[in-house]
Amino acid sequence: MIDEQDVLICLGSLEELEGRHGAVLPPVAQASLFRKRSAKELLEGLKREHEEYIYSRGTNPTVKVLEDRLTALERGESCRCFSSGMAAISSVLASLLESGDHVLFVNNIYGPTLQLAELLSRFGIGHTAVHGDDVRNFEEFIEYNTKLIYFESPGSMTFGLAPIREIAKAARERGIVTCIDNTVSTPLFQKPLESGIDIAVHSLTKYVGGHSDAVGGAVITSQELMEKIFYRGYMLFGGALAPQNAWLFLRGLMTMPARVRQHEADALAVAHFLAEHPKVIRVLHPSLSAEDRNLFETQMRGYTGLFSAVLDVEDFDELCSVVDRLELFGKAVSWGGAESLVIPASGFDDEYGPQGIPKHLIRLSIGLEGADLLIEDLSNALAGN
Ligand SMILES: *Cc1c(COP(=O)(O)O)cnc(C)c1O
Repeated sequence: MIDEQDVLICLGSLEELEGRHGAVLPPVAQASLFRKRSAKELLEGLKREHEEYIYSRGTNPTVKVLEDRLTALERGESCRCFSSGMAAISSVLASLLESGDHVLFVNNIYGPTLQLAELLSRFGIGHTAVHGDDVRNFEEFIEYNTKLIYFESPGSMTFGLAPIREIAKAARERGIVTCIDNTVSTPLFQKPLESGIDIAVHSLTKYVGGHSDAVGGAVITSQELMEKIFYRGYMLFGGALAPQNAWLFLRGLMTMPARVRQHEADALAVAHFLAEHPKVIRVLHPSLSAEDRNLFETQMRGYTGLFSAVLDVEDFDELCSVVDRLELFGKAVSWGGAESLVIPASGFDDEYGPQGIPKHLIRLSIGLEGADLLIEDLSNALAGN
């Protein structure tokens, strides 16, 4: 169930329209710099670049409207938008960690995020990544120098859940900062900051944008943590979101509640169809998993349209032929748009690949074509037609 207030936040219904001449969306502040009336005003402003319009690598009025909506949706204190989800993630890690620190990654993590962790080892930052059964026993992997617990729930590709409240509690007791990548749930279906998590990161590229036309990211957290992230990773790495793209995300946000409700219903219909199909070994969807039932009910308000299925095929080539027979599912990376997409897990010899991803898995992003047509398409492809 989506919170009614959240729909109004997405629509911007409660915002001041002053300075917009009543336009529903703010104008695109297509500006790199903002002139001040005097030398002193400029120098004073430079001291408060996190709240003053000085330069668009820092603060921009159009981006600010999007940041305010995302802050409200995640129930945080402060948000910054970035040029991509990875810019947001790398800024968080680089701003909060130093040489000698350790990061614990819990659950199946988005591939490039783990590649980034490998890169950070060059700067003396170590990490451990746990998945599968170890997710529940994450505490065993906390080390004396663990400064950050970074996790996903549902996890990438396999969509298992991690215990959000337990992670928050264990970390708080030890003074460790926690960060969740909340992209797949959207802030409509999961509010980790309310459960005591310190930071939520997002790729806006997915459901917030919703139309496969822009790349962006966001970080939502407390004022205190944001001050560090702003003056370190945000301003110095320079991955600011362009105002044009912020405008596209504001437009996407307005229909996000309606879209994700439809994605949710259609994905559930498709997942149930697949779960009953003889050529399907297993469907990996958070609300269909018996093991995660309890966590699903206590920490999520619903779920979106992204899930996986493990197929009963002979080999990787047969898996690829099933994928190729699909007519309505685009073969592409990313997800969260109006069009359905499919991607097979890359071929590997063992029963399980990296991070325990089962062999012969396909990930589906259910678009807005309608469940009946998608089921027909899958039914044909699985039958070899
Ligand atoms: C896509 C994605 C990202 C990265 O976002 P970009 O906008 O592509 O940089 C991070 N986390 C998850 C879970 C994603 O799906």
